[in-house]
Amino acid sequence: MSGFSTAGLSGADLRVNLGGRRILDGVSLSLSRGQVTAIVGPNGAGKSTLVSTLAGLLKPTSGAAALDGRPLSGFSPRERARRLAVLPQTPEIAWPVTVRTLVGLGRTPFTGARGLTTADHAAVDQAMQTTGVTAFADRLVTTLSGGERARVLIARALAGEPEWLVADEPLTGLDPAHQLDAAALFRSLADRGLGVVLTLHDLTLALRLADRVVVLSQGAVLADGPPDQALTPDVLRRAFGVEAIIETTAAGQMVDVRGRL
Ligand code: ADP
Ligand code: MG
Repeated sequence: MSGFSTAGLSGADLRVNLGGRRILDGVSLSLSRGQVTAIVGPNGAGKSTLVSTLAGLLKPTSGAAALDGRPLSGFSPRERARRLAVLPQTPEIAWPVTVRTLVGLGRTPFTGARGLTTADHAAVDQAMQTTGVTAFADRLVTTLSGGERARVLIARALAGEPEWLVADEPLTGLDPAHQLDAAALFRSLADRGLGVVLTLHDLTLALRLADRVVVLSQGAVLADGPPDQALTPDVLRRAFGVEAIIETTAAGQMVDVRGRL
């Protein structure tokens, strides 16, 4: 396999077949740290499949994902988890453990049989501080609101001090205020050098939050670039089958969906 840029998270001609169907049909991209990349597209476009493949959790049928030029298939799970944290879509946290314990699980790629070291505890404290969950460190996760839970799950991912955070629909299910809080958190993490890759449904949020938007449609990249170049009326028509305009308001740009085609 050739053609990987040396730095960053990349996919080269990714093809994924599942259940006899072609789900990803030759996706190539190269993502940079310090940026928020939003992957958008209609239901079933292949967004979750793409992020799983880029995170090294799903082996592509052909093509390869690579981190800093090294194919992810060559990483041990532990090594991969140290560098790249994954936030799955609607993760289950059903067990009644404390927030601190759950965030501590983010240290798993580092811990041995002895359990958490002083350095591990420091990383857990730092992750809780970054995400603003320190105040409820001793609460049971089962008692948290959706917005609090979302931040705790991000804290768990950050506790491993990853270089990359790959999150599948992390804003779905949050009310508007908590969506904005989480978006601001992702923004600040990217500004501090983390590579942030998210799938999103809210196109206005994608427009305002992301440095780069990848529009996926039927397993292929339809547009890829700065948000206002990727999210054009023409792309929105072809990807989502809707008539939409991009408006500039006092609060920033927004995608105004006018109707179905
Ligand atoms: P998105 O996240 O954009 O909604 P997904 O990546 O979840 O899309 O799925 C893309 C398509 O692949 C969907 O049509 C889905 O039904 C199909 N798919 C996903 N996983 C499997 C599987 N294990 N077997 C067969 N089809 C699958
Ligand atoms: Mg999905």
